[in-house]
Amino acid sequence: MRVVKPKPQRLQVSQRAVLALGSNLGDREATLEAAVRDIGAIDGVHVESVSSLVESAAVKPSGVDRAAPSYLNAVMLVRSVIGPEQLLDAVNAIEDRHGRVREERWGDRTLDIDIIAFDGVQRADDRLTLPHPRAAERAFVVQPWLEIDPAATLPGIGPVADLPAASDGSVRRVTNRDDR
Ligand code: ADP
Ligand code: MG
Repeated sequence: MRVVKPKPQRLQVSQRAVLALGSNLGDREATLEAAVRDIGAIDGVHVESVSSLVESAAVKPSGVDRAAPSYLNAVMLVRSVIGPEQLLDAVNAIEDRHGRVREERWGDRTLDIDIIAFDGVQRADDRLTLPHPRAAERAFVVQPWLEIDPAATLPGIGPVADLPAASDGSVRRVTNRDDR
């Protein structure tokens, strides 16, 4: 009997990550659509679902800025075989490709991609804080996230559906271009 040696396979355990996308400059919808495609093309990342787009006023460190162009945001669920730092590198490269310029904090931007959660990871250092420290209070993250995962939980915080931001009326779901 011939012994068949199994082909060596790299064990690739995928982990679930939640990404939030935002844009308030240029053709926001086209940028977000392109970003979703770019994220799907990252080696080691598989897109599971993408929320509807939501629109909300820009928030600056000083508060809501109605003079600034408003944001379109979306949330994506992905599975990743790459780790959180590599995923951050990959999404930062996508931001750069879409002309992101880093100037003022929370400044207007063509594209922002944040890692909201990466599996159950809890960590905080200069480069990456997980879960994202402001995710729980951002209606434009919480509401589209609940749309695609009603049972979502934030590691160290709890069910996303129980957060005040889940029922905050400051964001509105955008169904088609004519809504804007
Ligand atoms: P913000 O998204 O808060 O407006 P930026 O997009 O300019 O700010 O990000 C600033 C830095 O935040 C990034 O260079 C990145 O290293 C860091 N960062 C820390 N935690 C995260 C996270 N969970 N997701 C994305 N960026 C993060
Ligand atoms: Mg960011």
